[in-house]
Amino acid sequence: MKSGKQRRIELKAQKQARKIKLANQKLAAREAMREAENLASGGVIVDLSALAPNNSYGEPDFVKRKYYFDQPFICAGCNSQEVWTAVQQKWWYEVAKGGLFSTAKFCRTCRRQEQSRRAEARRIHLEGIAKKRQGNRLFINPSSTL
Ligand SMILES: [Zn+2]
Repeated sequence: MKSGKQRRIELKAQKQARKIKLANQKLAAREAMREAENLASGGVIVDLSALAPNNSYGEPDFVKRKYYFDQPFICAGCNSQEVWTAVQQKWWYEVAKGGLFSTAKFCRTCRRQEQSRRAEARRIHLEGIAKKRQGNRLFINPSSTL
């Protein structure tokens, strides 16, 4: 037969278990509510497994929230007001494997301009290197054949 003390301990444990279960239910309900709100306000779910590996400390807000939201920003090229949409963000982080702390900087037009400017700079740079090598070869060859 169980002692009164044992019985009291058992009852206390049961009460504690009920309390935990209830708290978990409340938490799940709140989580479900938040998810519904996120979806309703245009949020797009983050697929954490598709993100680029991240070595830095901490994580950006969209990882903490697990949702992308449309994000207004000012273009660094023309100062126009732009929106980086939740869908564009999902593509950038999960398909293009963009860095987790990188964000939109330019509007579409300025991004195109920036891309062609960079391509042109690269072409000129590579041309310069090629010319330099040619020059060096002309200069070095006579002595290196000795
Ligand atoms: Zn712009």
